[in-house]
Amino acid sequence: MPMRDLSAGPRVLLKRLRELMAEPLEPQERLDRIVSQIASNMVAEVCSVYVLRSDGVLELYATEGLNKGAVHLAQLKMGQGLVGTIAASAQPLNLSDAQAHPAFRYLPETGEEIYHSFLGVPILRAGRTLGVLVVQNKAQRNYREDEVEAMETTAMVIAEMIATGELKKITQPGLELDLTRSITIEADGYNEGIGLGHVVLHEPRIVVTNLLNDDAEKEIIRLAEAIGSLRLSIDDMLSRREVAQEGEHREVLETYRMFAHDQGWVRRMEEAIRNGLTAEAAVEKVQSDTKARMMRLTDPYLRERMHDFDDLANRLLRQLTGFSGRAFDEGFPTDAVIFARAMGAAELLDYPRANIRGLVLEDGAVTSHVVIVARAMGIPVIGQAAGIVALAENRDPVIIDGDDGQVHLRPVADMVKAYEEKVRLRARRQEQFRALRDVDSVTKDGQRISLMMNAGLMVDLPQLVESGADGIGLFRTELQFMIASTMPKLEEQEAFYRNVLRQTAGRPVTFRTLDIGGDKVVSYFRAQEEENPALGWRAIRLALDRPGLLRTQLRALLRASAGSELKMMLPMVTEVAEIHAVRDLMQKEVQHLSKFGHSLPRKLQFGAMLEVPALLWQLDELMTEVDFVSVGSNDLFQFSMAVDRGNARVSDRFDILGKPFLRILRDIVRAAERNRTPLTLCGEMAGKPLSAMALIALGFRSVSMTPTAIGPVKAMLLGLDAGQLAAELNAMLDDTRSNASVREMLVSFAAGHNIPI
Ligand code: PEP
Ligand code: MG
Repeated sequence: MPMRDLSAGPRVLLKRLRELMAEPLEPQERLDRIVSQIASNMVAEVCSVYVLRSDGVLELYATEGLNKGAVHLAQLKMGQGLVGTIAASAQPLNLSDAQAHPAFRYLPETGEEIYHSFLGVPILRAGRTLGVLVVQNKAQRNYREDEVEAMETTAMVIAEMIATGELKKITQPGLELDLTRSITIEADGYNEGIGLGHVVLHEPRIVVTNLLNDDAEKEIIRLAEAIGSLRLSIDDMLSRREVAQEGEHREVLETYRMFAHDQGWVRRMEEAIRNGLTAEAAVEKVQSDTKARMMRLTDPYLRERMHDFDDLANRLLRQLTGFSGRAFDEGFPTDAVIFARAMGAAELLDYPRANIRGLVLEDGAVTSHVVIVARAMGIPVIGQAAGIVALAENRDPVIIDGDDGQVHLRPVADMVKAYEEKVRLRARRQEQFRALRDVDSVTKDGQRISLMMNAGLMVDLPQLVESGADGIGLFRTELQFMIASTMPKLEEQEAFYRNVLRQTAGRPVTFRTLDIGGDKVVSYFRAQEEENPALGWRAIRLALDRPGLLRTQLRALLRASAGSELKMMLPMVTEVAEIHAVRDLMQKEVQHLSKFGHSLPRKLQFGAMLEVPALLWQLDELMTEVDFVSVGSNDLFQFSMAVDRGNARVSDRFDILGKPFLRILRDIVRAAERNRTPLTLCGEMAGKPLSAMALIALGFRSVSMTPTAIGPVKAMLLGLDAGQLAAELNAMLDDTRSNASVREMLVSFAAGHNIPI
């Protein structure tokens, strides 16, 4: 059969290479023998390997035919000469008269002037160029297509040698290979903190170790079967109800289907098998070639399609290798920094929490669920780190800086040292805060301040004891809904709340009823597209229109707190009438439960969040209606100043410590005092020592914040004379003629009184 004849050469070569790889040889010797094998097999006078260094130079690592004295001396920059052009373009060059090519560059030390024909292929791994493999002949000739294929296949074997680190041993002192190059990527910090550790790729790259086949026909059948089931699985996904309509998800799957039926793709893989590769190695080879080509595209739409193609090839690899699960089933790093293109919140919770030092996402937004969960777990998070996954390998050392939004992949020693110092400093500060855990939170002038924490998931709860919080001032119940794939049932909700109450062991917990809608998306609860979701059908509005949903939650809360105290509050209240409506529903639930003999909570505390400015003109009605009020400063500020809290362009435009907002807060404190209504505040401003200081001066005696902020806020208030600051602050707020900055006054007050902020 002609196919067999054509592939006989490459197959013999690959067999020899397999034997060479298995022999206990020093790396230089192995490489020398490899090039000599290739040269004789391809009937070429020259075969050379150039390896890309971290300084962008391609260095001659081995040669058969050129001057041996040039090994480790002959160099070309990326883009320079024929070899540099191949590396930069990640494309082969097949020339019958190399010297006539405009990019040809003569390296005198090699003695290559007598060779005319030239075939060079990139050495690729996961789409990255690691070097170049070249053969040359004196006579002018064109290398056949199957010879190009054979060279590309051989280059995979050398890529493996580079990736396993074998060539490091013969790298000149002080130089590094490109694969180990240190890279810094500027991205967005989504959660503060420093993470030092080792990369764990969330979508693990399948490492194909079985490169060479014994029977090409058998491998072609394996490939055909795998493609068949891949196509079926895509059709199956497309016919599922949730993607049956139009939408982004469907579009992605349609693209998958298109790729999966692409004859060109299949043909290239079959060719690679005929040249001696196993089915999985053939998939990997074509994936790497395609990726290398597509990586250079600048069109964001096409780049996105590259991800789709990559996903598809990975699916096929999984089919063929039977690979499921993580690459780290045994020996998961104790200092894992997880790299993902995108990730669901539940997937993050699957990792062993104690081993995670950080999370890096190529996509993601500050408000995405996985980020909310990561923040709750106290993990530093980086988002919008474009292209980082392709640059990283499992177990690469990495440092992430959630404060500055930087990722340092394979950092140099000095960088590691600087960060170790930064981490030590942070740890010392944390230690100081921990030492304050059991210290009473009382200001210098004797005001007791209740410091509560915000929570929403079981993973948050251990922080209650660790932070020394007095209780949970805001339990965001929607998070349980957001990370679930289907609507949690009554029993699941009840079990969850019961668990929360058990773990908080008597410390108060304020459950907020569902605050979905707006930016809090629950995938299985599809609301209509809204032009202004923050002002739309959300929170209590949605709950009152879907009383079944709210009643289920109320029932779950009542049942979970049987015999103890239930403290709950409503989000996004606009009119006092809405509170009446929920009270009515609550009453019905209480009656229902008593009718069926359930025991009820010992005490019920019913509160409202103050987030909508309209309530500012109903303060007295509100305060008399409820048992307590909690200011949601994130939303109250957003609505008062008309700035979208999720839009970075405007969210910091106005100062939360400016006069207008502080006056609003002061009015609320006065109304609460007048009505003797317990008052707290649970937005982000409670967790920043400077703004928390202002809140205490305004008269807040209870605040709720992210647990890591409790230490810093307590350190601040221990040094604060609340009465003295209140006098200064009130004077400023009363002064209608001065434009002086309240923030500056607060900063200088803190500095003048040695208050840590
Ligand atoms: C707020 O709006 O301040 C608040 C605490 O609620 P959330 O951030 O969940 O909207
Ligand atoms: Mg809110």
